[in-house]
Amino acid sequence: MFESLSDRLTGVFDRLRGRGALVEADVRAAMREVRIALLEADVALPVVREFVDKVTEQAVGQQVLKSVTPGQQVVKIVHDALVDMLGADASDLHVDVTPPAVVMMVGLQGSGKTTTTAKIARRLTERDRKKVLMASLDVARPAAQEQLAVLGTQANVATLPIVPGQQPVEIARRALQAARLQGYDVLLLDTAGRLHVDQALMDEMKAVADVSTPNEILLVVDALTGQDAVNVARNFSEQVELSGVVLTRLDGDARGGAALSMRAVTGKPIKFAGVGEGIDALEAFHPSRVAGRILGMGDVVSLVERAQETIKVEEAEALARKMAKGQFDMNDLRSQLQQMQRMGGLTGLAGMLPGMKKVQGAMAQSGMDNKILVHMDAMIGSMTAKERIKPELLNAKRKIRVAKGSGTTVQDVNKLLKMHQEMANAMKKIRKMGGLGKLGALFG
Ligand code: GDP
Repeated sequence: MFESLSDRLTGVFDRLRGRGALVEADVRAAMREVRIALLEADVALPVVREFVDKVTEQAVGQQVLKSVTPGQQVVKIVHDALVDMLGADASDLHVDVTPPAVVMMVGLQGSGKTTTTAKIARRLTERDRKKVLMASLDVARPAAQEQLAVLGTQANVATLPIVPGQQPVEIARRALQAARLQGYDVLLLDTAGRLHVDQALMDEMKAVADVSTPNEILLVVDALTGQDAVNVARNFSEQVELSGVVLTRLDGDARGGAALSMRAVTGKPIKFAGVGEGIDALEAFHPSRVAGRILGMGDVVSLVERAQETIKVEEAEALARKMAKGQFDMNDLRSQLQQMQRMGGLTGLAGMLPGMKKVQGAMAQSGMDNKILVHMDAMIGSMTAKERIKPELLNAKRKIRVAKGSGTTVQDVNKLLKMHQEMANAMKKIRKMGGLGKLGALFG
């Protein structure tokens, strides 16, 4: 997300930082470029204006210009202003109340509301160990209730049984009762969407809110709709007391402007970002980290969190034990590759590391993207059990077989073998330095 904005801004700031001494005119010129970059990213005009004015005022101060590192200071000022614009601190869901906490999901049709409901349910179940019930109140769209039931099965979250013919308010009452009687901690209500904001939708939403007294009303908006997303949010927030916003499709080529204007225009925090179609593709929205990502300063904290969520402790320990003995075979390489895939693939990982933005671009250009992980996995999958443990068995004939079996070429197989050899060598070095204890501590 935010790739092009990020590229533009890093360009501007690289030039500023490269100059050493700065005069006011340099800063003003840079701010003009920042303004254009923000407008092109679809940030609402009044928000851009306020932002640029505020930053310029601070950045042209003598203290900054006369400092040893004026370029750095300007970047810091922009960073802090971005965080401000995005809404200071991350805000989690308020569901630690007398159960059942009720979370009502609202939004237009196609915004990703149903998918997001399931993602949040899954997050609450897995991460917060809550007992969650989901109910679809969408009687307008055919099969909407069934869709939620299917997602529920996927996410391993209970859904309210469907009673054909029931109206939204009745379903909400029944859901609430079921949640109370069956001891659920959280009840998620997925309300009906519409193609446009209309009065019938708003009335239905208010009626449901009246009977269910939600602890959270989350508005789901599609980031790809840019400025429209902000208008939709403004409309909804005038009608009901929203507690927060979820922006979906931030994985796509959304220009990101919606995210940047949302807080300023609605006064509501963005609580989550949808970053894919999968049930796990939901991230807590941390303004400071997002600001860091936009300015190419990396997002190491998110990376570490994702590692903690996806790295299986037993696997890591088993690997550490083998490495301690100086062993690292194809099976180990494979589990490493799979771990990387779970963490968002090569390009996803690179985007989170400081200074890696350019590397990420280069990777994409050279075709060195996530497909490579899949190919490598397929190649290892085409090896026999013996070959995986002793890759040196792979002679020319065997290599041809592996290439055919995995839909790759012998060159690809050679590259994989080389990479494995390099990693195995690196492991041996680590072992010699006795550094495994420290590595292990990282995952502990
Ligand atoms: P609803 O009509 O608002 O309930 O929308 P759905 O939940 O049915 O979502 C519509 C489509 O958007 C589905 O194909 C989802 O898989 C997809 N979708 C939802 N959230 C995201 C997201 O964050 N990223 C991407 N790429 N697709 C999403």
